[in-house]
Amino acid sequence: MENGKTKKKTPAAARPRKAPARPKSLYSQDELKEIFRRFSIQRPEPKGELEHVNPFTLVVAVALSAQATDAGVNKATRALFKVADTPEKMLALGEEKVRDYIKTIGLYRNKARNVIALSRMLVEKFGGEVPRTREELVMLPGVGRKTANVVLSMAFGQATLAVDTHIFRIANRLRLAPGKTPDEVEEKLIRIIPDEYLYHAHHWLILHGRYCCKARRPECEHCVIADLCKSPEKTSDVPAPLVELPPQAVGATD
Ligand code: SF4
Repeated sequence: MENGKTKKKTPAAARPRKAPARPKSLYSQDELKEIFRRFSIQRPEPKGELEHVNPFTLVVAVALSAQATDAGVNKATRALFKVADTPEKMLALGEEKVRDYIKTIGLYRNKARNVIALSRMLVEKFGGEVPRTREELVMLPGVGRKTANVVLSMAFGQATLAVDTHIFRIANRLRLAPGKTPDEVEEKLIRIIPDEYLYHAHHWLILHGRYCCKARRPECEHCVIADLCKSPEKTSDVPAPLVELPPQAVGATD
């Protein structure tokens, strides 16, 4: 009751519709924009570190990279992709020879089996082409959601966010998008990262985690977002000078 009158309720259908709310983050939209603006100045064109020559070899490289370093995968695939850069050639090479090429990579027996199985499925089900949707990509043996997201982003330019160990750590350490599982972190990050930065966000976060916000000891004294970071682990509040980084810290090597 107000002034003796009952306030009339507006019917739900007549209420103005609000834009879907962004999930609560410790960071304001302005802070998020500033974080990614600085990353974009440090690394204007961030690249993935897995060598590949076409979408097929990218799928294989990403599938091989589980529990292995990109540098280790590149060493093995350089020779492999020279002889087999299509699913047809990979099938012709056969599992045993694929195993020989990749035996320096962890879990190589299982991975060789998957490479042959995924090549067969590409030939038999997709006409030898790598499919362009996540639903189809995850049907391939050895390809999970993370691999599919990397392929969609790197091969087909779609703005996705594959949460790897570095991104998972950063999202939680900085309280950027805390979550218990990679899927939870992925979903939160996609919703809070400003749209204009989403395409490169995957690589920026990975490279920031690999070269600066490292697992054992974050190098806060070299961090360009030290003043914005809300991590209880940070050891400096002073941001490092904001300059474009040399190629070795952009993603050309490991
Ligand atoms: S200030 Fe330290 S903890 Fe925060 S993002 Fe930078 S390196 Fe990581």
